[in-house]
Amino acid sequence: MLIVQKYGGTSVGSIERMKNVAARCLASQRQGHQVAVVVSAMSGETNRLLKLVDEIHDDHNDREVDVIVSTGEQVSVGLVALAIRKAGGKARSFLGHQCKILTDSSFARARIVDIDAGPIRDAMAAGEIAVIAGFQGVDEKGNITTLGRGGSDTTGVAIAAALKADVCEIYTDVDGVYTTDPNIVPTARKIERISYEEMLELASLGAKVLQIRSVELGMKYAVPIHVRSSFSDVEGTWVVPEDAAMEKVTVSGVTASRDESKITVEDLPDQPGIAARMFAPLADANISVDMIVQNQAYDGTTDLTFTLPKIDRKRAVDLLKEQVPELVGKDGERVVFDDEISKVSVVGVGMRSHAGIAKTMFTLLADEGINIQLISTSEIKVSCVIARKYAELAVRTLHEGFGLSLPASERTGL
Ligand code: ADP
Ligand code: ASP
Ligand code: MG
Repeated sequence: MLIVQKYGGTSVGSIERMKNVAARCLASQRQGHQVAVVVSAMSGETNRLLKLVDEIHDDHNDREVDVIVSTGEQVSVGLVALAIRKAGGKARSFLGHQCKILTDSSFARARIVDIDAGPIRDAMAAGEIAVIAGFQGVDEKGNITTLGRGGSDTTGVAIAAALKADVCEIYTDVDGVYTTDPNIVPTARKIERISYEEMLELASLGAKVLQIRSVELGMKYAVPIHVRSSFSDVEGTWVVPEDAAMEKVTVSGVTASRDESKITVEDLPDQPGIAARMFAPLADANISVDMIVQNQAYDGTTDLTFTLPKIDRKRAVDLLKEQVPELVGKDGERVVFDDEISKVSVVGVGMRSHAGIAKTMFTLLADEGINIQLISTSEIKVSCVIARKYAELAVRTLHEGFGLSLPASERTGL
């Protein structure tokens, strides 16, 4: 088999742990598999580098910031390659420009455009374990780019797709994908198999165990993803195409995202073209807007509320003031924002065939006195924006209320 193994920050968090990684990939190689390894920066390192940046510069969306934050992975690949050699194996490290992982030029959130996996194949053909830096790429002009927080997952799956690997193993500090973050709700249960679609929703809605883009790529290129622990050998969670058994479970997981903000623009004229003009500057700046709610007033005006990544909130307000002052006021006086929100969501492919999930969710939140500010739904999820301070309470309440603390086989009647 050809296996791509991705090790997250905790799994390479110390020299001891890197030795453990070396032992694991060598064990796979000895079993006869071809192995490529993708590694993250040592845990805490990317945050440390970003803090240094914050002392002189408040915008992470910058060429120089990617030059700085990509160094964490550079250190990791070198050390892991040395650890493999020390353990008796052969290894070669690869940075983004050496693989080569070609991306667009959106610093801090670049998307992979192409991978030339030739150098990795050559290394593997020579019996070496290829140790590839996660999170980083290079654009057409040779600039270093990074793929957004958690981006090493995406490197892992993209490399697996490029190599046509049999599996992409994501080694992390939990032993699989759980019904909710097990570090917040101890009664969370491990999910054995989850569909790409559900995993995509969970990841988009706050479960940082896999970066969204990695699930998208897994789905697109049919790469089976196995999320598991680097500290044990237990079977983890398989992210795979949907099957009939999955539909029987109505709600598979509960998440909360805490990295969003809410912007409201008040008293907009209620006429065609206003929303298009409002969102144009944000789209041009590559800011992705999530929930959008518009409320019509009787006096011919309308309020428009939307959510967006918290890191983009300041830039978004500035852009609106600069580019559409006639809509938001010269000093943005018609703009109100709130950074203290959280979006809680319940997800499950079974929702397609079961009614009443939204009602149950609203009732559970109401019983705890939690006010719902915005609601959005898709075929397989319901999300509510609430005040941040209630996020954990809401997640616990929904997790219990939908019976997710019970084994899947006992979750009936919901
Ligand atoms: P790594 O550094 O290995 O990439 P991350 O910290 O990015 O690890 O992701 C693993 C973390 O994701 C876990 O420690 C856990 O707290 C969090 N997490 C959030 N939601 C879930 C979930 N539904 N299942 C498992 N882990 C989750
Ligand atoms: N080191 C990067 C981060 O902390 C990428 C990753 O770990 O996946 O976001
Ligand atoms: Mg991660």
